Amino acid sequence: MKKRTVKIGNLNIGGSSPVRIESMLKVPLSDLRACKEQIDQLWASGCELVRVAFPDISLVDALRQLTTYSPIPLMADIHFNFRLALAAIESGCPSIRLNPGNMGTSSELDNVVDLAKQNRVVIRIGANSGSLSRDILESSNGDAAKALVIAVEKQLELLLERDFQDIILSSKSTRLSDCLRSNYLLAQKYGDFPFHIGITESGPGIRGVVKSSCGLAFLLFQGIGDTLRVSLTDTPVSEVKTGFEILRTLGIRDHGPEIISCPTCGRKRADIQAIIKEFLPLIEELPDGFKFAVMGCEVNGPGEAKAADLGIAGTAGGLVIFRNGEVIADGQTDEMKTMLKKIIHSIHNDQKMGQ
Ligand code: SF4
Repeated sequence: MKKRTVKIGNLNIGGSSPVRIESMLKVPLSDLRACKEQIDQLWASGCELVRVAFPDISLVDALRQLTTYSPIPLMADIHFNFRLALAAIESGCPSIRLNPGNMGTSSELDNVVDLAKQNRVVIRIGANSGSLSRDILESSNGDAAKALVIAVEKQLELLLERDFQDIILSSKSTRLSDCLRSNYLLAQKYGDFPFHIGITESGPGIRGVVKSSCGLAFLLFQGIGDTLRVSLTDTPVSEVKTGFEILRTLGIRDHGPEIISCPTCGRKRADIQAIIKEFLPLIEELPDGFKFAVMGCEVNGPGEAKAADLGIAGTAGGLVIFRNGEVIADGQTDEMKTMLKKIIHSIHNDQKMGQ
C-alpha cells in the first residue's frame, strides 16, 4: 500500500522517509527558558519532532516564541478547546495533536480544519485507552483494541468529511496487546496514512525501555510506524536515545555509532565499563553506523567483534587495538589508550573533511 507523506515544517513523515524520532517537552510552556533548554538538548540528540502541551490561551505568545526559536518542528498538544487549536495554528505552529470530536460544535471544528488547511498544518489524531468513552467500549463488547479502532475511525471521519488529508494516526494503550492489535487493525484499513506509534506510560528505567522496545519492535517489523515516541518516565533526551537504539537494533535506521561490548566473563583482562565510560564522549562523535568494540580479552574479543570497524580488547599485559578484525597494535594499557584516541581523532578529522 502506497504511504502518504505529510510535511511538518521541513520534516517529511511517511512515504519513503525514515522512521522519525520524536519526544515531548516535560516542562511547562510558561517556563520558556526551560523549554528552550530542553529544545536545545533534544536538537543535539537528533530529535526530529517535539510535542508541547498547550493548555491555556494565555500561553499563545510563549508558543509563538518557541515555534520561532526551535530548530525542531513543534506539535502543539491540545485538549477539548477549539480556541486553543485556532491560536496554535495562528501562532505558526506547524502541527497540532487533537481529537476533532473534542473541538466543540461542528462549525467550530470547521473553523479549525479550514485554518489548518490554509496554513498547511498537519493534524495528528488518535485514541488512548485512558480516554475511551463508555459508548465506544460498549459498542466493541469490551474489546479494548477494537474500541481504540472505533475511536480513531470516528476522529478520522470528522476530518475526511471536511476533506482534510494531512493526518497522522495513532492508537495507544498501556496494555501492550491492546496497543499492538489496535495498530495492526488500523493499519489493515488505513495503512496509507502515516502512523505515530508509542507505548504510552511505559514506565521508569529499564521497565519502560523493555516494554517500549518489545511493543515498538513488533509494530515496526510489520511496517507499522512512521514516527515514534518512546514514552519514558525519564528525560526527553533519554526517550530520543532509546528510540534511535530501537531503530538501530532492528536494522531500520542508524543514528550515531554502534558500541559492541562483551558481557565479560572469568577471562576478562580489562575493565570494560571503565573504558567505555572514558571513551564514550569520543565514541559518540564517530560517524553514523560506525561499529566500535570494547572486549574483555584478546583470545575471543577480536573474533567475537569482527564486525567492528575499530575496537580494543584486554590482554595479560594491557590492551590490543584491532581494526576490521585485524590486530594492529599490542601494548601497555596507557600506551594503547593514547594510540586509540589518536586513531579516533583521525577518524573525526576525516569525517569533517568529508562533510
Ligand atoms: S570477549 Fe573474552 S572476556 Fe569478553 S565475554 Fe568473550 S571470552 Fe569473556
